[in-house]
Amino acid sequence: MPPEPSAPAVALVIPVFNEEAVLPELIARLTAMFDAQPAYRWSAILVNDGSRDRSVELILSAHARDPRFKLIELSRNFGFQSALTAGVAAATAADAVVTMDADLQDPPEVIPALVAAWREGADVVRAVRRTRSETGLRRLAFDLFHRIFSALSAYPVEPNSGTFGLLGRVAVDAFNQLPERHRFFPGLRAWVGFNRVDVAYDRQERAAGQPQQTLHRLIRYAADGIFSFSYLPLRALTVFGAFVACMGFAAALFFILWRLTGSERAPTGFTTAITFVLFLGGVQLIGIGVLGEYLGRVYDEVKQRPNFIVKKRTGL
Ligand code: UDP
Ligand code: MG
Repeated sequence: MPPEPSAPAVALVIPVFNEEAVLPELIARLTAMFDAQPAYRWSAILVNDGSRDRSVELILSAHARDPRFKLIELSRNFGFQSALTAGVAAATAADAVVTMDADLQDPPEVIPALVAAWREGADVVRAVRRTRSETGLRRLAFDLFHRIFSALSAYPVEPNSGTFGLLGRVAVDAFNQLPERHRFFPGLRAWVGFNRVDVAYDRQERAAGQPQQTLHRLIRYAADGIFSFSYLPLRALTVFGAFVACMGFAAALFFILWRLTGSERAPTGFTTAITFVLFLGGVQLIGIGVLGEYLGRVYDEVKQRPNFIVKKRTGL
């Protein structure tokens, strides 16, 4: 039985980059979930982020069979955050938007619980992992990032939540208004506010294929998170600079007094001098580096380039 035309419309936004190995299962499991939940008008907006495999072909054939599957093709690979932004912006007819990965690490079977929380009044629903599937170095890096982020940012993110979750219409409109280029979705979701509810789930292993987010990308993403949500690195430099200046002033005073009291022995102190020179040189270079992180981001924002370029829409 098809849903009522007045039923709430829920759109899933799913970035796709070289996911031919998981797409058939993703589409099958989403179709099963849609059909089991006839109280909603479902659609899935798959955003192809410049895949070089058969992903587009698979999505187009899913669309031909079932028009609830829609496709946005970006003109090249813009990265996960831009693809997500493109999909959320395209969900203009949806009353709620679910954001999720394509690789089935975010199981479609959890979506009805997210939607139920929204129906009960939440504007933002975060899916929070009861368990983590990452292990070893990756896991350590995630934990370290979350510790640093929550220490630095005024908008703490739940360490066990990622992109998976739901935004109600008001939150989607707010999210679409954020113009920045360096986007860190969990931080932006924390920033927009509204009523927030968490739903627990078990994070799965990737169903097939390889992770598409390289470690390099993840590190860049982490840096975006920190630098776009905190001025603390800059402030720490100011405080540290003031501290070093005070120490220098005290040392100068000490040596002047020493001279005036008539001590004849000239201090040797070559090692001390070289240590201070290297140390201060290092601190200054780090300082310039931190400034550069902010300056580069300011430059990117000032250029006002769009976050993504759409090549083609199918079904939208
Ligand atoms: N993805 C994307 N563009 C990219 C890299 C990844 O759209 O440049 C998509 C990918 O297809 C998947 C999601 O982002 O749907 C998360 O990627 P992945 O599973 O590789 O990341 P991880 O689980 O390691 O965070
Ligand atoms: Mg994944």
